[in-house]
Amino acid sequence: MSKVIIITGASRGIGRSMAEYLARQGNKIIANYNKSEEKAKELQEELKKENIEIDIFQADVSKREECQSLVKYTIDKYKKIDVLINNAGISVWGPFTDLKDEQIKEIIETNLYSAIAMSQEVSKYMIQEKSGCIINISSIWGLVGASCEVAYSITKAGIDGLTKGLAKELGPSNIRVNSIAPGLIDTEMISDFTKEEIKEIENQTPLGKIGKPLDIAKTAKWLIEDEFTTGQVISPNGGWIIT
Ligand code: NAP
Repeated sequence: MSKVIIITGASRGIGRSMAEYLARQGNKIIANYNKSEEKAKELQEELKKENIEIDIFQADVSKREECQSLVKYTIDKYKKIDVLINNAGISVWGPFTDLKDEQIKEIIETNLYSAIAMSQEVSKYMIQEKSGCIINISSIWGLVGASCEVAYSITKAGIDGLTKGLAKELGPSNIRVNSIAPGLIDTEMISDFTKEEIKEIENQTPLGKIGKPLDIAKTAKWLIEDEFTTGQVISPNGGWIIT
């Protein structure tokens, strides 16, 4: 597999694991980061030791102009974009009635608007090529909702709506659009969970464990190689949530 792949939010966690895994499969990776420059450089250096070159690119993907810069950089250098993975995301925890306007706007812009803007910017080129694959990282909470994570649940359900509508619109251009809706994955995003809370979730999960970022990277690889799956929400979650 040798594809040009943009991954948003690839400095840490799931995005970083996807960048490492897909780069090791021979793909050209453009790893976007926002605030964690050191970590993005560390990722680039780590892969360089294996003779693997990746591009890192700073952009706040909640802003249209910065999405445009990321896409322009990729097109100028590689002339095409085969795969877009909309992964960048944040979470906000707290009772719904306590959410401040700024928090609501920030999470919608970071998790949902970014995926809309990036998909618009990239699909122009994919339509010309009559080929492409867009993967949106949503969440089980988009499927079933989470108490005290209502704003997060809204953004992730919105992402799944983007996946379904866009899959229908872009299918005739041979562009597949799917969501990956992970269960609990061991990254900084869940650093507020206590050991006891994680144990409890593992006990409720048929496979008896939470996920690792690599589990999601493997699902992404499968979706990139697949040729007949579009408009779907695939949920690697150990069986914790079965809909
Ligand atoms: P994480 O470890 O907190 O990493 C988040 C990544 O998103 C970082 O690389 C961060 O980049 C980037 N990011 C945040 N805001 C950004 C912006 N405005 N522009 C560009 N990049 C931005 O989180 P994670 O657990 O890997 O989560 C990755 C995705 O998976 C998210 O969409 C999340 O909602 C989803 N997810 C996670 C879980 C889980 O249990 N961990 C479960 C389901 C879904 P910088 O640090 O460089 O700013």
